Amino acid sequence: MPVTSRTKSAPAQPANENNPYDDMLVRFDRAAELLGLDPGQCEILKTPERELKVAIPVRMDDGSFKVFDGWRVQHNSSMGPCKGGIRYSPQVNVDEVRALAAWMTWKCAVAGVPFGGAKGGVKCDPRSMSVGELERMTRRYTSAIMDLLGPDRDVPAPDMNTNEQVMAWIMDTYSMHQRHTVTGVVTGKPWGLGGSMGRPAATGRGLLTMVREACAQKRLDLARATVVVQGSGNVGGTVASLLHAIGVKVIAISDIDGGLVNGKGLDIPGVLRHQEKKRTLKGCKLGDRIDNGDLLELECDILIPSATENQITSKNAGKLKTRVIVEGANGPTTANADKILDAADVFVIPDILANAGGVVVSYFEWVQDRMGYFWEEDDVNQRLEGLMRKAFAQVLARTKQSQVNMRTAAYMEGINRVAYFTKMRGLYP
Ligand code: NAD
Repeated sequence: MPVTSRTKSAPAQPANENNPYDDMLVRFDRAAELLGLDPGQCEILKTPERELKVAIPVRMDDGSFKVFDGWRVQHNSSMGPCKGGIRYSPQVNVDEVRALAAWMTWKCAVAGVPFGGAKGGVKCDPRSMSVGELERMTRRYTSAIMDLLGPDRDVPAPDMNTNEQVMAWIMDTYSMHQRHTVTGVVTGKPWGLGGSMGRPAATGRGLLTMVREACAQKRLDLARATVVVQGSGNVGGTVASLLHAIGVKVIAISDIDGGLVNGKGLDIPGVLRHQEKKRTLKGCKLGDRIDNGDLLELECDILIPSATENQITSKNAGKLKTRVIVEGANGPTTANADKILDAADVFVIPDILANAGGVVVSYFEWVQDRMGYFWEEDDVNQRLEGLMRKAFAQVLARTKQSQVNMRTAAYMEGINRVAYFTKMRGLYP
């Protein structure tokens, strides 16, 4: 194990609670200190290997031009090709992309898939853009970061506001430049273009496995539990549907415009049908309106934040009335909020474990693309459940061994693996 000397004492507070990269560093330092990692090695592990900032000029439908900012950050490639989604959002900035890239490194290691961590983002408002504008922006962004990409180098996937259509455009643009079809350059593609069965639902399905594990730990009867989900996109919408399908009461769900609540349990398929038709939950009559802040403070057994970062902070953590949090989103809880949740004995399954189902099935997709042989959905789902359960058990064992909470245990597991194998590879030259 990579034990040489102890790190300097770690800062207990992030420099800025709303900066996800600062939050990542606080948690890294705590885990590294407990692992007794060498300070020099910590420096290597914390620092992103490569950051590319690109300008993306796009001809808009009205004939005008707009230049969008885009990034691709490769945090660490010690364990294999870099892996991580691409996000389109007006809030994207380099610190967010850095944090998301680092979380991918630890997540892949926790899940036991042979990838490093990366993330990409474009600062744009996809809700105000036409399909044609999104396609031109995606293709220009792909060509701008193309030197970093490749099935053995860096493999993007969907994230907030990107989907299998966007992945198909990326795959096509890359393939045009290579002069042949290269399906393995992205995951989350449509089935039939090298996509995997089960990939669209994978993150939500992995979350369902984590919900079941949390219930077993907290002796909660899932059949009688109440669940609140923030976010109703790929992650939130899927986990809400899967829970509803097995008879669990989902009492609230939201999107960026606010949420819907119904204490008797929402008709989730009806809510999602409305959303698909109108592209918003606004106007849906299946529940009462509630804003995103109040939704988090609803009394429930299980809260599944599945929207974005910094939703549970030092300001509202003390007001939550839940027993379990399963983090569908990346970074929904700040480091300062962790302490408050710990004191209130809330069982938190952290993002780098809870939402790893997406990257697990992305790994399966990458393997299938390389083989040119595609698996049945049952096979994908069974393998996914197996890896998620194994990762949960390893993190839980670490909580007992090191007397830490699930988040610190997950960071310790992920960082320790990457540190061990980075040390084995040695430092070039
Ligand atoms: P998505 O774009 O499909 O859905 C995002 C949802 O969150 C939408 O309902 C949107 O309206 C809502 N939302 C966005 N900003 C919000 C805000 N400020 N406040 C409240 N709600 C807001 O995205 P997704 O793929 O479901 O991703 C959601 C989260 O899950 C992100 O943190 C992402 O990084 C994480 N994640 C996604 C995957 C994946 O496979 N897609 C895997 C792991 C983690």
